[in-house]
Amino acid sequence: MRLANLRGRAVLLRDGTALDVERASGGRFPADPMAAFDDWSAFVEWAADADYSAAEPYAEEDLEAPVPHPRQVFAIGLNYRDHAKEANLGFPDYPVVFTKFHSSLSGPVTDVTVPGATMDYEAELVVVVGRELGHADEATALAGVAGYAVGQDFSERAVQQRPPAPQFSLGKSYPGFGPFGPAVVTADELTDPAALGVRCAITGPTAADRGLEEWVPQEGNTRDLIFPVGPLLSYLSGIVTLYPGDIIFTGTPAGIGQPQGVALQPGDVVTTSIEGLGQLVNTMV
Ligand code: ZN
Repeated sequence: MRLANLRGRAVLLRDGTALDVERASGGRFPADPMAAFDDWSAFVEWAADADYSAAEPYAEEDLEAPVPHPRQVFAIGLNYRDHAKEANLGFPDYPVVFTKFHSSLSGPVTDVTVPGATMDYEAELVVVVGRELGHADEATALAGVAGYAVGQDFSERAVQQRPPAPQFSLGKSYPGFGPFGPAVVTADELTDPAALGVRCAITGPTAADRGLEEWVPQEGNTRDLIFPVGPLLSYLSGIVTLYPGDIIFTGTPAGIGQPQGVALQPGDVVTTSIEGLGQLVNTMV
């Protein structure tokens, strides 16, 4: 099942069409895309038998953040070995956790204003929580996942790394710096949620500087996560209570721009994709 947000209304996506949840459920589930998380298991049960005959074509750019108002947004740093190496910060003993403030979240197809000279990309798997989790063991935490989405953790490095102490959250929270979607995809739609290809491709000036039509700086796989989804949610839930609809940006594989002396420029189009989940297309302006 693929739950998305089409111009503020909850929809189920299938084969290029969108089914309006409120109409198809006869009002049982409201149009508010957050409402499905009030009782995620009931929603999943209803969606399994939903009649898609009234589904209609839609435009990707009309999709908004599939979880528009999560109570909490977590993001994880240094969660792939190859990325921890390029960042030159060693492998973490515990997850490195920060937030992206709500105001940075957006839908999958957007224009993003480049705020400075050191804007970077980070392709990431986003996990959406489906039930309240506190002190959950790894199996319980994994069973509490509602679904997965593609995320892009845009980062302004100068602000993120401004001394004397790094300010990860602020430098990653400019408007439009947290696109995710196109939908919340349940695990049954995926061959193996623990082994998904993660890719970031760039066209425009940054690719042209390399003599390329398209430059693909990131090609990773979620099987290389240092803290995979179960252990990660178990760890977080041992400290904070996780709520239905909370989202977690799980970290990025190697290939970010900064160690290569690359920063995003106006005109760049960043396409972030994950196997089975779809893609984000974000244009730098
Ligand atoms: Zn990140």
